[in-house]
Amino acid sequence: MTEPVNLYDLAAPQLEAALAEVVSPVFRIRQVEEWMYARGVDSFDAMSNIPKETRAKLAAHFTLAFPEVLTRTEPAPDGSRKYLLRLADGNRIESVYMPMGERTSICLSSQAGCAVGCTFCVTGFFGAGRNLTPAEMVGQFYAIQHEEQIPMEQMNVVFMGMGEPLLNFEHVVTTLDALYRNLAPRRITLSTSGIIPGIEALARLERRPNLAISINAPDRKRREQIMPITAKYPLERLMAALRRFPLERGRDVTIEYVLLAGFNDAPQDAVALARLIDGLHAKVNAIPFNEDANLPGWMKRPGDAAIDRFVDTLVRNGVRVTVRRSKGRDIAAACGQLRGKEIAKSRATNGREVDARR
Ligand code: SAH
Ligand code: SF4
Repeated sequence: MTEPVNLYDLAAPQLEAALAEVVSPVFRIRQVEEWMYARGVDSFDAMSNIPKETRAKLAAHFTLAFPEVLTRTEPAPDGSRKYLLRLADGNRIESVYMPMGERTSICLSSQAGCAVGCTFCVTGFFGAGRNLTPAEMVGQFYAIQHEEQIPMEQMNVVFMGMGEPLLNFEHVVTTLDALYRNLAPRRITLSTSGIIPGIEALARLERRPNLAISINAPDRKRREQIMPITAKYPLERLMAALRRFPLERGRDVTIEYVLLAGFNDAPQDAVALARLIDGLHAKVNAIPFNEDANLPGWMKRPGDAAIDRFVDTLVRNGVRVTVRRSKGRDIAAACGQLRGKEIAKSRATNGREVDARR
């Protein structure tokens, strides 16, 4: 028997067609969609205004399952928490809840690992993992919205969790379209390590999320050292693709820059970064490196004085910049670390890795 289709995996036209096979009249189809996207239900039983027989028929053909919440951390001082979720095939992924007053952001994973292999990243350290389905991404969104009881009008989404969203392009686009039912595109940000064909495909979309690029070094040589993907997609070509990327009025590209002590945090590195992004509608998000036992020992988080010097130098060179300074916010910067700890623990107890990757 084939697996039943998860309705959250379907793009709008396919969803309409699938529902039309078992639900009528048309207003009932609208009601089902309302339950799905306005309420984010994960079972047909919850659809109380849909006749019982119709719900039974739906359940016989389809599912609405979400990833299962395994654990969530205690809130950090700023209220943020990390969630560990289990997918139907046993893979584990992370999502992060980040309250920010009237605005709340949820950080979603797009893959169950990452093949890009940045050397400062725990997800990269544990290696490739499969693409998440739209239902698994939409499911992270609703699962956390429900757990934290977040009003929809406060919701923002960042694709900054585990994985490289532009290497899972089709599913990410279906997910974006599902999120747009509730969120304006400007409330969604997609972060990429710089997959140029993906950026170009994103540029061709009618509705685009905000774009964030993990630059992380001020020149090609150092970038390649910590982001081997630079060999495939050179920094110069990446910057050219960013300059071509169509931006709606008032929008900026976010330049993410992980600060590593003694590697890329000197004032002259700030000057070089300012030069690199000159002429781009951009703001820099400086992210002090989050240390982790799985990562190379030489990688250290800079002290506050070095961070201040770096940021001040950017500002003096005309760059707008924000810093993720609070410990709590670090949680988001290093998605993959919670799962990393779990894998490490099971390695220690079993003497082998439980397969959390595949
Ligand atoms: N793959 C995408 C999105 C996920 S990574 C990307 O690379 O952009 C999200 C962000 O976390 C990236 O900007 C990355 O540079 C940052 N990051 C990864 N590991 C980190 C660490 N140990 N400390 C601080 N930031 C980290
Ligand atoms: Fe993958 Fe992003 Fe981590 Fe690089 S920083 S390994 S692209 S998740």
